[in-house]
Amino acid sequence: MVIYETYTIKDVNMKVGIIEHFDSMHLLPSHPKCGVPHGHTYKVEVVVDGELKNGMVIDFDQLKKLLREILRVYDHTDLNKLFPFPSCENIALNLHSKLKLNLNNYKVTVKIWEGEGKWAEFSDS
Ligand SMILES: [Zn+2]
Repeated sequence: MVIYETYTIKDVNMKVGIIEHFDSMHLLPSHPKCGVPHGHTYKVEVVVDGELKNGMVIDFDQLKKLLREILRVYDHTDLNKLFPFPSCENIALNLHSKLKLNLNNYKVTVKIWEGEGKWAEFSDS
């Protein structure tokens, strides 16, 4: 058995994460400030929590491909065509549900920044 410090491989749960970006436009219906069309660069962080197997929780390449495939739908589009109310929170929920279709055996956390300094996070527990 390989031992890293005081942990054995079979006992280790770990989080791994990736960050991607997409650019989109939206408006928030009836919102006094955000009710006019405008754009954001969204930063997306996905954290996958799972068992360490053969030195990996999940293959970064596999995770990046999955995330990029989903974000392609949001990128350079009018988010109001995809969501009745395209808030950061609703996008995070939608992204999380799509990721979970492929990552059912992991705990998944999605955090989305809408520009600088504003974010929404959703995690299954
Ligand atoms: Zn906005």
